[in-house]
Amino acid sequence: MGRATIIAGNWKMYKTIPEAIDFIKRLAPLVGDRQAKVYLAVPFTAIRPAVEAAGESGLVIGAQNMNDAEEGAFTGEIAARMLLDAGARFTLLGHSERRHIFGEKDDLINRKVHRALADGLQPILCVGETLEERRAGEAQEVVERQILEGLRRVKGKRKLATLVLAYEPVWAIGTGETATAEMAQEMHDHCRKVITKEWGAEVGEEMSILYGGSVKPENAGQLLQQPDVDGLLVGGASLHPELFIKIIEAVE
Ligand code: PEP
Repeated sequence: MGRATIIAGNWKMYKTIPEAIDFIKRLAPLVGDRQAKVYLAVPFTAIRPAVEAAGESGLVIGAQNMNDAEEGAFTGEIAARMLLDAGARFTLLGHSERRHIFGEKDDLINRKVHRALADGLQPILCVGETLEERRAGEAQEVVERQILEGLRRVKGKRKLATLVLAYEPVWAIGTGETATAEMAQEMHDHCRKVITKEWGAEVGEEMSILYGGSVKPENAGQLLQQPDVDGLLVGGASLHPELFIKIIEAVE
């Protein structure tokens, strides 16, 4: 079985419900019959309206974060079951803005991964090094640690098959700086080797690894041509239907 090609948008803290519906009504008719699966990580409030607007189009709606507990006295937090209840099918976990602005560490991210898998939500685990770490020659080591810690004690081919990894160098997120296609390929190859060593060749071969960091219509095609780049995680450009559609079209 080949790896799934996924183009995922991350709306961050943008778009009200009417704005989300308007966007999805434009996008949904263009999603079916594509080689790539199209995912959108929307704000919590927009999940249900987005699912309804997406209808049977094949567009997959998800969240950007969740709590690691099943439920409890955690004011302001949201549980995997609540996201599923609203219609979400996946969630981003460990996005660099969660790690660096909200101080999330690998052990918390690991608990979130386990919770998402246990409750039936597909996790997209985000990893990536800072500029200082890259300059210090530590990029591969940092990413390896984030993968091994983030996925610690995840076992079973069925569970591992639902997981998606996203490599997003922190210095390329929202900055306009993109890793070159060669840099992305080099790190994706490293990620696949780390996964293969830890979980075996079948898991390594089948796990989709997305690239994220200032992806635009102009660089999407080159990134997607790399053998280990299985899709893209798109922030800023996913807020504009015309740009996001061009990125989806870059798969063909
Ligand atoms: C992101 O938020 O995951 C991201 C990659 O953002 P941008 O495309 O804006 O760099």
